[in-house]
Amino acid sequence: GPDIPESHPRHESLLTRHRIEDGVDRGLTSRQGLIAQGRGEAFDYLLGEETIPSADAAERAAAAHLLSADHPVISVNGNVAALAPGETVALAEATGADIEINLFNRTDERIERIAEHFRNYGAEGIKGLAADARIPGLAHERAKVDADGIAAADVVLVPLEDGDRAAALAEMGKTEVVVDLNPLSRSARTAAVPVVDNLLRAVPNMTAHAEDLAGADPDTLGSIVESFDADAALSAAEDRIRNL
Ligand code: ATP
Ligand code: MG
Repeated sequence: GPDIPESHPRHESLLTRHRIEDGVDRGLTSRQGLIAQGRGEAFDYLLGEETIPSADAAERAAAAHLLSADHPVISVNGNVAALAPGETVALAEATGADIEINLFNRTDERIERIAEHFRNYGAEGIKGLAADARIPGLAHERAKVDADGIAAADVVLVPLEDGDRAAALAEMGKTEVVVDLNPLSRSARTAAVPVVDNLLRAVPNMTAHAEDLAGADPDTLGSIVESFDADAALSAAEDRIRNL
């Protein structure tokens, strides 16, 4: 990796940026992914680059949703592949979720590269290669999903999802957990559970909550899900940005 001294005040942020650059060089991440990264960095800076209490509560609610689901799926794109492949596989294992590759700019070559990348981190049964179902209301390429993956899912975790697709998935009746550092984005506003946190912190923390809740009964999980307030979580993130 790049030679960034640990004492540098932007150490984490620069390392993260390098991961995305590397993802682009390796054909995992699209060039648009660089722009998404830039937007994310700006919001992370404004949030103080830490998991705020409302985000931790959202991560616990997300874990409870995934654990109570009949068919949970974690949707991954080129940024997720570059930033947190191992962490995503660990979350899938802790929650019994499938991983499905879902690209805004879909090419078979990039799908296959990302699948191989996740397999190198121990993922099995990666979905998104069949693309034998469609999300209604979206243009052809962006609508592609697997019939036994996202199309059949009841709970979908969509980190860094585009706003249109987040809305279309919600219209299909999916319970959506969105990880997005921008509390004003359409994706965050569409989600049943908006996780306003950096993917790099959010995924391991969801795994920690899932491991903590592994033995919990359905009532306990249900009450965590019920007591989560999405609007309050978005407001708390906005307050944090205004009052940091
Ligand atoms: P909208 O949701 O308003 O339609 P968009 O989805 O079109 O906007 P993009 O720039 O494509 O906007 O989405 C990137 C989103 O992902 C931004 O909101 C950005 O804050 C967020 N993001 C980028 N990197 C990360 C990260 N590491 N962790 C969490 N969120 C991130
Ligand atoms: Mg968005």
